Amino acid sequence: MTTDDAVSRTALRRPDRLFPAYVFDLDGTIYLGEGLLPGAKRLIEALRQRSIPVRFLSNNPTKDPEQYVDKLTRLGLPTPVGDIVNTVVTMTRWLLEHAPGQVVFPLGDPPLIRALQQAGIPMSEDPAEIDLVIASYDHGFDYRKLQIAFDALWFHRRARLIATHPDRYCPFPGGRGEPDVAAVIAAIEACTGVACEQHVGKPDPEMLALALSDLDLDPSEAIMTGDRLATDVRLARNAGAAGALVLTGDSGLEDLAATAPEHAPHYVLDRIDQLLPPAVWDELGWQDDAPAPT
Ligand SMILES: [Mg+2]
Repeated sequence: MTTDDAVSRTALRRPDRLFPAYVFDLDGTIYLGEGLLPGAKRLIEALRQRSIPVRFLSNNPTKDPEQYVDKLTRLGLPTPVGDIVNTVVTMTRWLLEHAPGQVVFPLGDPPLIRALQQAGIPMSEDPAEIDLVIASYDHGFDYRKLQIAFDALWFHRRARLIATHPDRYCPFPGGRGEPDVAAVIAAIEACTGVACEQHVGKPDPEMLALALSDLDLDPSEAIMTGDRLATDVRLARNAGAAGALVLTGDSGLEDLAATAPEHAPHYVLDRIDQLLPPAVWDELGWQDDAPAPT
């Protein structure tokens, strides 16, 4: 064992109990690109066999939950659409719960617009009747939409500004990226002086509450697992839930070492199936020294 290995071994901490619900990030946690990560399939199947609720979270509102179902199914992990919670789902739930009947103006891609329509949420482009301007990841963002938001927020002074999520950019393969919702929020805030007052994406604790709102469960009872300290683990900590970092994606041991104790994960795993406690591993006949399962 090298010194680096020894250091990484001491950083790892596995749960010693089962939780009433498991919430997962997707990219870097369950899959990476076009492949499931080692142990993901058998972990999710073991949880489902025990009737323990599983939810998959994504901040990305440019896809319908059905598109995530298609991808997981293609990768060998068939998943009911109700297990997928992205900011299309959380925004729709938030509006129904916190702003029933209010008229919204969404700056977003078709999956968000479709979901709001299907939920019967009133929408308008008339600034005089807009109650909520919703900033989102909008590939059709233009000056016409900015003017409507400006008039609703600044001229009529009646609307509030909310957003699906806070991300600055969406990472693309090869180290590239694309401007995300932060650019839309900043454009609206800059010209109106009105601050965005609510997100429903990671790391806002509202996202975990909304993701679990169909279960009779407080978010603090769940465990949230992901590969990013700044979003996934921060969400867990913000919501009072247990947080687990899996070292198969974005954040590594150097990032962990630089993290303040109040933002640190409760558990650190080098493989996602280590989320199950050792007693369950024994029961299932899984072994640490066996090759990583596919
Ligand atoms: Mg991730």
